[in-house]
Amino acid sequence: MGRPAPIDLPVGIAEEQGAAAAGGLFAPLALLLASALGYWISRKALAPVDQITQAAQQISAQNLSARLAVPRSGDELQRLTETLNQMLQRIEEALDRITRFSGDASHELRTPITVMRTRVELALRHPRTPGENQDTLEQLHSELIQASNLLDNLMLLARADSGAEQLRIAPANIEDALHEVLAQAAPLAGEKGVALHSALPGHAVWIAADRSMLQRLFLILIDNAVKYTPASGRVSVELTTMNGSATVSVKDTGIGIPEDELPRIFDRFYRVDKARTRQAGGAGLGLSIGRWIAEAHGGSIRVESRSGEGAKFEVVLPVA
Ligand code: ADP
Repeated sequence: MGRPAPIDLPVGIAEEQGAAAAGGLFAPLALLLASALGYWISRKALAPVDQITQAAQQISAQNLSARLAVPRSGDELQRLTETLNQMLQRIEEALDRITRFSGDASHELRTPITVMRTRVELALRHPRTPGENQDTLEQLHSELIQASNLLDNLMLLARADSGAEQLRIAPANIEDALHEVLAQAAPLAGEKGVALHSALPGHAVWIAADRSMLQRLFLILIDNAVKYTPASGRVSVELTTMNGSATVSVKDTGIGIPEDELPRIFDRFYRVDKARTRQAGGAGLGLSIGRWIAEAHGGSIRVESRSGEGAKFEVVLPVA
């Protein structure tokens, strides 16, 4: 059989076939080039994300004040870095609060424990009469009560922080709740020579509340008013209702609070005069607990006072 005769193709077709052969070579090359370029561009675009990731990995509890460098690109990356920095700021502040709280709490607990320990060591060192031992036991008892109250307050705040403290909300007559607290505070005021007055509406005022928590709040305010009012002073407690809210005010004629201290008195462990209030048994937790109780009921607490001119605390609560 002879070889088939070559076919003469028209010129146009021959050129196309040549180009196709060249294209067959060029296509994989172009693909390779395109993917290399794509890879290079994506690496370059993601480089700042890599830098952020590395910087974020370096941040731990030990250097929480460090911040990520914000690229001034005006795009999502800048917004993401700024958001992460704001989140770091909030975490740093929360950790600061926790560290300060546990430091202050251990400091406050150490004081009564050291006093009790010294008292017991002194008592053990010398033989003592039964009367002397009785005195020591009584002093220890009152110091133990103080320490366990402090512990109760610390635990309440810790539970409030973690959201574990559950209010037992039920219809509560705050007029009656106030009556009980006033009866509880009367002996203390009497002992101190402070007149305790009350102006209650004379009928039930119902609100949805945890009654014992509200009583704790009222007792904190009345107790403080008596504590910071010298003999022959006066403490007045009033309950009024208006526009769907009940207001309990506790007003005294005592030593008052300097105006520049007012913004801080609801802070934990804050005492205007540290030496004096520690002697009186206060750790500076009462008002911070009081504020938490008022706010947990959807209410608020405020104070008006001037140094030497008494103080007025007002709790506003929504009426059921
Ligand atoms: P404390 O247990 O020390 O009384 P609080 O949190 O109840 O702590 O109060 C914080 C501080 O506010 C007190 O140490 C006191 O200096 C001041 N304070 C509170 N209530 C009164 C008041 N009625 N009159 C004067 N000062 C007050």
